[in-house]
Amino acid sequence: MVAAMASRTAKAERVAKVLLRLQRSYPDAKLALHFSSPLELLISLILAAQCTDEKVNEVTRTIVFKKYRKPEDYVRVPVEELEVDIHSTGFFRNKARALQGCCRALIENFGGQVPSTQKELLTIPGVGRKTANILLGNAFGMPAIGVDTHVLRLSQRLGLSQQTDPDKVEDDLNLIVPKLEQTRFCTLIQAHGRKVCVARKPRCPECSIADLCPFPDKTPAEPVRPPKPAFGRKLKHRV
Ligand code: SF4
Repeated sequence: MVAAMASRTAKAERVAKVLLRLQRSYPDAKLALHFSSPLELLISLILAAQCTDEKVNEVTRTIVFKKYRKPEDYVRVPVEELEVDIHSTGFFRNKARALQGCCRALIENFGGQVPSTQKELLTIPGVGRKTANILLGNAFGMPAIGVDTHVLRLSQRLGLSQQTDPDKVEDDLNLIVPKLEQTRFCTLIQAHGRKVCVARKPRCPECSIADLCPFPDKTPAEPVRPPKPAFGRKLKHRV
C-alpha cells in the first residue's frame, strides 16, 4: 500500500515534468481533427477509426461538413449515398451505419444536440469512453482523458501504466494527471507521439523527455562518423 502510494507520487511528479517540457516543445499543440461544433467532432471521431486525421479532415472539409449540417441530414439520405461520400476514409459501410445510428440517437434522445456528460454520451451507439472523453475535453472544455493510440503507447513507454486495455490506462492516468491538465496532457502526448515517439522506431535521440522515460528499447543515437582523412581528398583532386 505504502509502496503503491510512493510509486503513484513519483509518477505524478514525472507527469508534471513531462507536461512542462512538452508544453515548451509544442506550444501550439491542438487536436489534429478539424471541427467547429460538438457534432462535427463526433462525426470526425467516428470517421477517424482506422484512418489518418489528415484524410478525415480532407473528407469532412470537402464533402461531409458542407453537405451534412444537422443530425437529420445524415439520417435523411440513403445509406448508400453516405457510403459514397465517406468512401475514402475506409470501412465506409460500417461507418455510414454508425453515423446514421448515432445521429438517430441524437434526434430521438437529445433533441438533435450532442449531450455534454459522459453518462449520456455513452448511451449513443458507437460512442465509447475514448470518443466521449475526447468530446468532453475538446468540444465542451471539460477535462478528460481520451486514450487514443498515442496516449496508450506513450503511457506504456513512459512507465505511467502497464495496462493494455485503454479503459484501464485511463483509470491509471486519472490517478496521476491533475484534473485540470488532463485534456492538455492528451493533446501534448499526441503531438509527441506523432512527431517524435512514433510507433515503429521512436526518435529517442531528439526527444525532449528522454531523461524522464524508462522505456528499455530506446532508439540509440547514430554513431558519429570520423571525417575522411585530408590526404584522401587531395589525392582525389590530383586524379
Ligand atoms: S525517449 Fe524514446 S521512447 Fe521515451 S518518450 Fe522519448 S521518444 Fe518515446
